[in-house]
Amino acid sequence: MDIRTQVLTIAKRIYSNRLVIASLGNVSCRDASGTIAITPSGIDYEELSIQDIVTVDLQGTPMHQGCTPSSETPMHTLIYRKRPDISGIVHTHSLSASAFSVVNQEIPVEMVEVAAHVGGSIPVAPYRPPGTKELGEAALDVLKDRRACLLQNHGVLAVGTTLEKAYKAAAITEIAARIHILASVLGTPGELPEHEVKKVRDLYFTL
Ligand code: 13P
Ligand code: ZN
Repeated sequence: MDIRTQVLTIAKRIYSNRLVIASLGNVSCRDASGTIAITPSGIDYEELSIQDIVTVDLQGTPMHQGCTPSSETPMHTLIYRKRPDISGIVHTHSLSASAFSVVNQEIPVEMVEVAAHVGGSIPVAPYRPPGTKELGEAALDVLKDRRACLLQNHGVLAVGTTLEKAYKAAAITEIAARIHILASVLGTPGELPEHEVKKVRDLYFTL
């Protein structure tokens, strides 16, 4: 599947899975030549079609006439420039995970899928203004060997060697946050012990 079709497919999926509303969040994918396909700025997911997906180079310069690329293009391109291993990025404002970002609290590993698909607890990158490359730098500082982090007072950033993996990490980040909040109503959520996290990671996790 070409990168513009991949971006459209995942953009529609994060919308139908309620990880985003209206035009919040953005999705991008890089191909082997270094071209990046990214969602446009400010267009509702419901309205989005293939001709709206923009291609940009590694500096964020549009390669064709068309829609304006996402305002978060500087964050996406910074990550692609610094991390040649990453080919897909998903940014959401999903509700429960964003609540963790607002209280500046990392999401612990309480469910096995967090260890398998994110790689461990989900850290918070310190606040940086939206639309800046500094937001990407702050995210990379905490991401390290994880596939997702929170952006303080903003939302979720997930990455992967494929866009599909970034999508999965973004979805599981929201599930982990929601389960923690629900479990806190029922009792005291139990974290997976570190040695069990390591076992699951060793068996299933790849960036
Ligand atoms: P765009 O519509 O420009 O992609 O912005 C959405 C967003 O999430 C900003 O942080
Ligand atoms: Zn955002």
